[in-house]
Amino acid sequence: MAIHFHEEDLPSGDLFASGPIAVDTEAMGLHPGRDRLCLVQLSDGSGDEHLVRFSPGSDYQAPNLKRLLADPARLKLYHFARFDVAIMHYYLQIMAAPLYCTRTASRLIRTYTDRHGLKELVKELLGQDLNKQQQTSDWGAPEINDAQRDYAASDVRYLHQLKEKLDVRLEREGRTALAQACFDFLPHRALLDLAGWDEQDIFAHV
Ligand code: MN
Repeated sequence: MAIHFHEEDLPSGDLFASGPIAVDTEAMGLHPGRDRLCLVQLSDGSGDEHLVRFSPGSDYQAPNLKRLLADPARLKLYHFARFDVAIMHYYLQIMAAPLYCTRTASRLIRTYTDRHGLKELVKELLGQDLNKQQQTSDWGAPEINDAQRDYAASDVRYLHQLKEKLDVRLEREGRTALAQACFDFLPHRALLDLAGWDEQDIFAHV
């Protein structure tokens, strides 16, 4: 179990086992056009996490990272894919799909609560405590400290285990196909956000 830190791209070579890959991002804020993408975190579920950090003025070339993220044969796991996919599309100019979103799955099955944060999900489904103290820290700082690295890595650490639990519950509630339809649509939802429909539900009557 180790956290590997990389600048500007993943090293070449096979870093990850085959199968789904958990992905998360950290940025200077929540607006892709205004706020810089600082960090992309990845895990294949085997216990190691890889962090790729982008510096101010980065050209976001990252060919190894892009190849992995855009691989149509590789499922990407997110918690709130809508944001990560949009900001990576904006800065890396790739669509990091096909995807699975643990937050969307949670909203489809945990209809008894409105608490769908990663911390709540990890606590309820896996019985683990996630430390969210560094969530709002400065991801653009020259040095990412150990607490930030550990926080960033922990955001991708549990997504494989969560998917297993959520899939059982989706099946139980008869919503597996509906969830898949949502995951298939999410890249388009992210593109609508980037195109200016972020505040509007285009399916709403008014
Ligand atoms: Mn995160």
